[in-house]
Amino acid sequence: MREPALSDVAANLSTVRGKIADASRRSGRSPDAVRFVLVTKTVAPERVLEAVRAGAADLGENKVQEGLGKAEALSGEPVRWSMIGHLQSNKAKELLRFASEVQSLDRLSLATTLEKRLQHLGRGLDVLVQVNTSGEASKYGLAPDEVLAFLNELPAFDALRPKGFMTLATFTPDEAEVRRCFRVLREIRDRALNDAPQGAMLADLSMGMSGDYEWAIEEGATIVRVGQAVFGPRPLPDSHYWPGAAGAD
Ligand SMILES: *Cc1c(COP(=O)(O)O)cnc(C)c1O
Repeated sequence: MREPALSDVAANLSTVRGKIADASRRSGRSPDAVRFVLVTKTVAPERVLEAVRAGAADLGENKVQEGLGKAEALSGEPVRWSMIGHLQSNKAKELLRFASEVQSLDRLSLATTLEKRLQHLGRGLDVLVQVNTSGEASKYGLAPDEVLAFLNELPAFDALRPKGFMTLATFTPDEAEVRRCFRVLREIRDRALNDAPQGAMLADLSMGMSGDYEWAIEEGATIVRVGQAVFGPRPLPDSHYWPGAAGAD
């Protein structure tokens, strides 16, 4: 008897997992060294559930409203949510209803707001510091030369657990430029391991999306954030068909 055909989502998930494992081996690491955050933005909960049934447990969203809606739709499933997009301070309360990690910490005022809420809730939060490695004005994140001073401030925030760094490379097919961005983040991490008060806690490098995650792993990524390679192309760049998401953030 033939096995039932895998859904496209399950098949794509398996393909991406294989490529992650291969790239990890090429970079001299074990095949499971890299964490795979499945980015579910703009994807309806029913399709996300297909991925969850196929073993995806580490999910990422870039909008609070949309993430909260999906977390509620998938409540009871064994999943963990990360915030990967720009976070407005006035969304922190809602964010903490579903997210256990923020990969886009990029300013002290946001750290202050999160800390206050977390103290109130009596819990902690994993955070990654977002760095603008491309230098593009359209991208969020600290400038590379601001990172160490920022890290020196973070120990004052008891509830925040800094784990490392996140970046988006320049949006270009130019492999050398994309890899340059990833190397900038890796060098920041390596310097922070020596110089920052958090020291060895800051090991994580979240870098690489559908178009560039294999390069990112070769450059040292420990976390990749992949959506379209599993769910197919989004209708338009930055467009959202999730009800209520448009302009919500
Ligand atoms: C959308 C998004 C991703 C994933 O991009 P894909 O092209 O779907 O793989 C990764 N990181 C961030 C911050 C995103 O907003």
